[in-house]
Amino acid sequence: MANTEHYVVIGNGVAGSEAARHLRQRDSDSRITMVSAGKLLSINRYELPKIFSSSADWRDFLLHPPEYYDEQKISVRRNTWVSHVDPTNKLLMLHHREPLSYSKLLIASGGGRYIPESLNQFKNLIAKFGTYEEAKSVCDALPRRGHMVMLGGDMIGLDLARSLVRNGYKVTVIGEDHLFWPHRVEAEQRQKFVAVLQDMGICVRTDVAITSIQRGDRNRPDRRIILDNNEVIDADVILSFCGLMPSLAFMAGAGVDIERGVLVNPQLRSTDKNIWAAGDVCQIWSPEENQYRFYYGWKNVKKMGRIAAFNMTGADESIDTVQNEKLVTTKSGEIDSPFWQYG
Ligand SMILES: Cc1cc2nc3c(=O)[nH]c(=O)nc-3n(C[C@H](O)[C@H](O)[C@H](O)COP(=O)(O)OP(=O)(O)OC[C@H]3O[C@@H](n4cnc5c(N)ncnc54)[C@H](O)[C@@H]3O)c2cc1C
Repeated sequence: MANTEHYVVIGNGVAGSEAARHLRQRDSDSRITMVSAGKLLSINRYELPKIFSSSADWRDFLLHPPEYYDEQKISVRRNTWVSHVDPTNKLLMLHHREPLSYSKLLIASGGGRYIPESLNQFKNLIAKFGTYEEAKSVCDALPRRGHMVMLGGDMIGLDLARSLVRNGYKVTVIGEDHLFWPHRVEAEQRQKFVAVLQDMGICVRTDVAITSIQRGDRNRPDRRIILDNNEVIDADVILSFCGLMPSLAFMAGAGVDIERGVLVNPQLRSTDKNIWAAGDVCQIWSPEENQYRFYYGWKNVKKMGRIAAFNMTGADESIDTVQNEKLVTTKSGEIDSPFWQYG
């Protein structure tokens, strides 16, 4: 018993779930605990836009059926926040002040929505779309053929936008700085892709800035947006899609190197020898670019979960830091992106 590893995985998204699966395959005697702030077992976030086109409930979004976790002897602590990591004593502190010890730790806590500073004062009027519960309440708030306004227009938002338009909703994207994030699109290419979005039925406004967001008047849509040219746009729901902010407040003071994410080498090991990181929370050293960078998208995140599990159990695998992440136009005249490929 003395040599039994206790692997603790913070986060049950794609990276955490994939890691737990491989940890169990490679170390059948170990203890595995997943800790997740979410209330549900792991769900497929990439499918959330489908909430507008079907009567599916949360069970249809589960990555694994509930019995999988019993069969695999993976303990899942749901609705449980990690508030601090103490690498010296190999201890996590949970929000309700319960300590949890680990022998090897994987940080797979992903990222939350980022709201630019200029819009932060309006954040209570901007809905969230990160969990099943949030997606469901957006779906309930949006009337049939209603109007969704998206601030930013990153690739997560544009995925939802195309799905909404296909289902008869109206979508307006306002913003320039985060449009197509995390793709880096040159100015001359950008105009071409904006035109493609317009042809797809998504209204894109890159020429204006937001002055204010207010509640709608009685008998009007729920929100009104005042632009810097005094134009007013009514919206039923407003969402912010301005990229992701890594969720790692619990790492403050832990002594592990952090920039915007947890810094790891291509083997996904952090500067602490017992801590690895995978998914949207980590910045991986890219020898080609001579800098730490994020690698987004289902394929990357899933692969990171696998590689972290392999290396936590004694292997020495590296993530491929050279990637082709180009935004493209399809033959049918829509935009497409490697970030949208999963399955
Ligand atoms: C609606 C939606 C659609 C998306 N579509 C795409 C897409 O098409 N393409 C794409 O590339 N990306 C998409 N993304 C982004 C996508 O979520 C990520 O690329 C990927 O799922 C990240 O996986 P992850 O495992 O790193 O983290 P996440 O899936 O974000 O999971 C993080 C987990 O950590 C938990 N957690 C965080 N902090 C704590 C804490 N302090 N204590 C305990 N638990 C904690 C959370 O509860 C969660 O379970 C989408 C995201 C959303 C919300």
